[in-house]
Amino acid sequence: MSKKSKSSGKLLVIKIVAVLCIIGLSLGFGFSQVGLDKIIEADSVDDILASAQDYIKDNFIDSKDSINQESLESMQDLAEVDGELGIYYFDVGQADCTLVSCDGEYMLIDAGNNEDGNLIVAQLISMGISKVKYLIGTHPHEDHIGGLDDVLKNFEVENLYMPDIEYDSSTYRNVISAAKKSGVTSVAPKLGHIFYVGEARCEIMGIDSDNEETNQTSIIVETTHGKNKFLFMADAEIPNEEKRLWNDVDVLKVGHHGSSTSSSDDFLEQTMPEVAVISCGEGNSYGHPHREVMAALKDSDVQIYRTDTQGTIHVSSDGKTYEISTFDIDLDGE
Ligand SMILES: [Zn+2]
Repeated sequence: MSKKSKSSGKLLVIKIVAVLCIIGLSLGFGFSQVGLDKIIEADSVDDILASAQDYIKDNFIDSKDSINQESLESMQDLAEVDGELGIYYFDVGQADCTLVSCDGEYMLIDAGNNEDGNLIVAQLISMGISKVKYLIGTHPHEDHIGGLDDVLKNFEVENLYMPDIEYDSSTYRNVISAAKKSGVTSVAPKLGHIFYVGEARCEIMGIDSDNEETNQTSIIVETTHGKNKFLFMADAEIPNEEKRLWNDVDVLKVGHHGSSTSSSDDFLEQTMPEVAVISCGEGNSYGHPHREVMAALKDSDVQIYRTDTQGTIHVSSDGKTYEISTFDIDLDGE
């Protein structure tokens, strides 16, 4: 069930020419393997390649941003293992960014810190993505909505979901203004709202716009693909967990970067995940993931994957079984 690829090496700063070549290669091979003509709906591979090149040219020259050579090369590997449903828990350092891809449709849950925005956009472009059906800003903290404005500026976003709260930060204002400019209205989905990404059924399992604790306003999404279930907890905490009953899931995206504010024993007993994914930064100042949570997961024999030590975690599901692989895709702009 578990298939790991080698995760080695760190972020490589490479010259613009090299980036363009690699994107070209990545796109060229990727297209034939994934049948991206279906996904892109666009005119031609050349157009997509040109737009990826333009983006890189505009955003990476003279910039501190760098793009990981292996990350782009890895796209070929990803294409090989991708089933009907692909989930990418991107390594964005101490932040969150998860892409769900199903039948050529996409949902992006959060978009890292501000500095990660360009890297996330470049990654999505290199995957041949031009349209994001659902963009979710789980709650207004910067480590979740930081790159949302970049995503809004560069892709056609059909639906933007965020809790309905007033929040005072320049990051939040940037997201709101980018949404306005691209003509997308932010909607706070109702609890129990059901929507589809391709054949994958998604349900809003939590949202609390009135909560005074920002983490506890988090939008929680459960995605079901055939027999496989995936739960994305954002930064929801124990009071959110106690508010309802939970389904048994295959893969749990652990709440609040593995903090002990989340993942109570009771919650883990209900969700009974086989696999837990924790998104956190190497040597982060919060000490995430916390010892208690790691111990509780190990006690329940949960297989743990971490972005800080394993890079980007990829799950592919055919609706019956799923496979997990890790890739050295590092989109942490620091
Ligand atoms: Zn967070």
